[in-house]
Amino acid sequence: TGDSVSRILEKIEEDRVQFIRLQFTDILGMSKNVAIPAKQAEKALTDGISFDGSSIQGFARIEESDMVLKPDISTYQILPWRSEKNRVARFICDVYTPKGAPFEGDPRYILRKQVEEAKKMGYIFNTGPELEFFLFKQQNGVPSLEFQDVGGYFDLAPTDLAEDVRRDIIIALTDMGFDIEASHHEVAKSQHEIDFKYGDALTTADNVITFKYATKTIALQNGLHASFMAKPIFGINGSGMHTNCSLGTMDGQNAFYDPDAPKQLSETAMQFIAGLLKHVKGITRLANPTVNSYKRLVPGYEAPVYIGWSASNRTALVRVPAPRGRSTRVELRSPDPTCNPYLTFAAILAAGLDGIKNKLEPPASADKNIFHMTNEERNNEGIYTLPGSLIEANQYMMQDALICATLGPHVTENLNSIAEIEWDSFRTAVTDWETNRYLSTY
Ligand code: GLU
Ligand code: MG
Ligand code: MG
Repeated sequence: TGDSVSRILEKIEEDRVQFIRLQFTDILGMSKNVAIPAKQAEKALTDGISFDGSSIQGFARIEESDMVLKPDISTYQILPWRSEKNRVARFICDVYTPKGAPFEGDPRYILRKQVEEAKKMGYIFNTGPELEFFLFKQQNGVPSLEFQDVGGYFDLAPTDLAEDVRRDIIIALTDMGFDIEASHHEVAKSQHEIDFKYGDALTTADNVITFKYATKTIALQNGLHASFMAKPIFGINGSGMHTNCSLGTMDGQNAFYDPDAPKQLSETAMQFIAGLLKHVKGITRLANPTVNSYKRLVPGYEAPVYIGWSASNRTALVRVPAPRGRSTRVELRSPDPTCNPYLTFAAILAAGLDGIKNKLEPPASADKNIFHMTNEERNNEGIYTLPGSLIEANQYMMQDALICATLGPHVTENLNSIAEIEWDSFRTAVTDWETNRYLSTY
């Protein structure tokens, strides 16, 4: 499409862009980028830009370490926090091999493939992630655990000193094309949430990466560190990335809505939920990819622990929020913001589609507070728990043929060895908890 290339080149000129950042994401969901001078834009947009992928996490492959970045034209954005004089724009890129094939280790490609699969079945997969994060003070240039404010849920200034920072973040995100729906102080001190409008999964996965990048940048300009770590502090809430999911049909309807069905949830919605619950243990490896993620998934902090669904109670892993009609959706509450959104969304979609293809039925909904049930009651109702550690979740992923096929062998093998190495490093470390517990006793 030479036409759109020349149009975007004109735009780059009009905007007086000096540098262009070509962004992509490694297997861990870390944003990577190569900067090129604006005059290289035409080459980038036509032939792509070569780079050495061998030192990128999860990309390494001796026999094909040369990779090519091809910008997705629709992702052009000015980085609003850079000075007008030295304007910087970015593109999110797809990664290709030198032979011109999509690189199987590119998380964006894995999501694109899964989204295509849904399209073949007549569906558009929409996601609406809700990212929570902490704002900590920087001390001597490094992040600390010192709170920036002591506000609580929905508090207003002056308790919420972060109001201005949050506003600056929202302004930056809005400049970058985000449609911000709400922002508020979260339950924990110094914890915040900013929600943006849902959209097709590829766009919202890109948005998650941009959201973290913009939030961290604006926080830093205010002397703060924005942390998306799942559970930075023991004893208070961790940070989630609840993911609202829905399927749209090609004629613009919401496939989860059926005004005549029980709970007004269509058969498709029920099957999607069933698929999600069937595969959620394997999905957990992706949605909760750090050792620390599992310190969030414990009772008492509004994070899910038990595998169940409900249309009425907030404690369920899979919740169906009240709105119906076009807004009908299911919310998966386990993901945390350390996840790679491309891989997480791809796995969620694959699981949901499996439910639809195989007409799975979900277990009865758990409308009681699952946390208040006894173990026996939970067992009787077939409610089990999410994996309790990264290594356990990794084993479930490796046993889940559907998830492995969705990721492909390259990413599956890489994730498997990353989890094993990470777990071994954690397992062999001697922690404060142990010295506090044992040093004086033994
Ligand atoms: N912070 C909670 C979590 O870890 C969620 C709080 C909420 O319901 O928004 O998932
Ligand atoms: Mg929240
Ligand atoms: Mg939520």
